[in-house]
Amino acid sequence: MNFFVDKNGFYGEFGGSFIPEMLSHNVIELQNKYKNIIKSEKFQNLYRNILKNFVGRPSPLFFCKKYSEKYKAKIYLKREDLNHTGSHKINNTVGQAILAKELGKKKIIAETGAGQHGVATATVCALMDLKCLIFMGEKDMHRQTSNVTRMKSLGAKVVSVTSGEKTLKDAVNEAIRYWINHPNSYYLIGSTVGPHPYPQMVADFQSVISEEIKNQLKNNPNYIIACIGGGSNAAGSFYHFLNDKSVNLIAVEAAGLGVRTNKTSASIFCGSKGVLHGSMTLLLQDKDGQVIPAHSISPGLDYPGIGPMHSNLFVKKRVRFIHATDNEALILGCELTRLEGIIPALESAHALVALRKIVFKTSDIVVITLSGRGDKDIDVYEKFSSNKKLLNL
Ligand SMILES: *Cc1c(COP(=O)(O)O)cnc(C)c1O
Repeated sequence: MNFFVDKNGFYGEFGGSFIPEMLSHNVIELQNKYKNIIKSEKFQNLYRNILKNFVGRPSPLFFCKKYSEKYKAKIYLKREDLNHTGSHKINNTVGQAILAKELGKKKIIAETGAGQHGVATATVCALMDLKCLIFMGEKDMHRQTSNVTRMKSLGAKVVSVTSGEKTLKDAVNEAIRYWINHPNSYYLIGSTVGPHPYPQMVADFQSVISEEIKNQLKNNPNYIIACIGGGSNAAGSFYHFLNDKSVNLIAVEAAGLGVRTNKTSASIFCGSKGVLHGSMTLLLQDKDGQVIPAHSISPGLDYPGIGPMHSNLFVKKRVRFIHATDNEALILGCELTRLEGIIPALESAHALVALRKIVFKTSDIVVITLSGRGDKDIDVYEKFSSNKKLLNL
């Protein structure tokens, strides 16, 4: 079975390119050119060089001794949190920034919710002399002031979006509007979402994660576990194992307050089929097709959809999807901090919850992708752990 994109831009019944006519020139240009550019030796040399010397790759695969004793399996963490700028997002922004230059573009536009993708984008634009314009909801700018400061220090212009709910989806709309009027700019999407070829392209750039896991282990792992928002760190972690059925692939969605509440981000469990941001996928929507705002304690998982590749992996049952609530993620995040001395991003803490939902054999090799570091979330953890009753360590 082919789990990658077909020549029409689809993953089974999902994907495609549902965009306004005005954008089709840009998107078709990308569809026609990106594969050959990223396969070229020139691209690969520069991409690999920046990943090694700027990002700090390969990221370690860390064996957790105490965690392994507690959960009775051989547990490893893939340390994407150690990358420059603190998450896996930079793997993709480096790739797309080089691609934009090869396409002759001088200005990058991007949207950001929590600011992580905005910071990773502003960082590579500084490195590669590209102009950078970041669209961010006004509400998010107030919630994430330190990331706004980081982007500005790096030389990016941050545009405050005041339409709609003043959050991520409004920032996306504004970025698309800008792109229509400035077709010479390059739209740098931060996850495996958007019209074809973005989902496949972002997965290609993130696939370095599973490429390294393969090299770092003698035998294939029995499990690979990743949290899932739009799906880029999961896609990168699964990529080179998709066709090996002996590897169990687990994706953990953010349930927010629970999948039976309306405060959730679990697009697989609570969603239905529809078009979001240019592709056919599963998303949270009401019976009239209006997008329901997502909720999660982790800003990076707070997205009402999921990439089309993952919708297909769910329908074809290649990946098992589970979900974790805000509270479960907080408990496991605090536990990792105390047991192994690593403060995980709240997003990544969702992946850890799988340890309490799956029964492993003691011989199982379990790899969990730690997508980001938790410095940004330290106030949330602190508030939570000061309420000791909740801490069931
Ligand atoms: C953005 C982000 C995510 C979610 O995005 P994916 O595209 O699903 O990987 C997860 N973890 C961290 C640390 C993030 O910054």
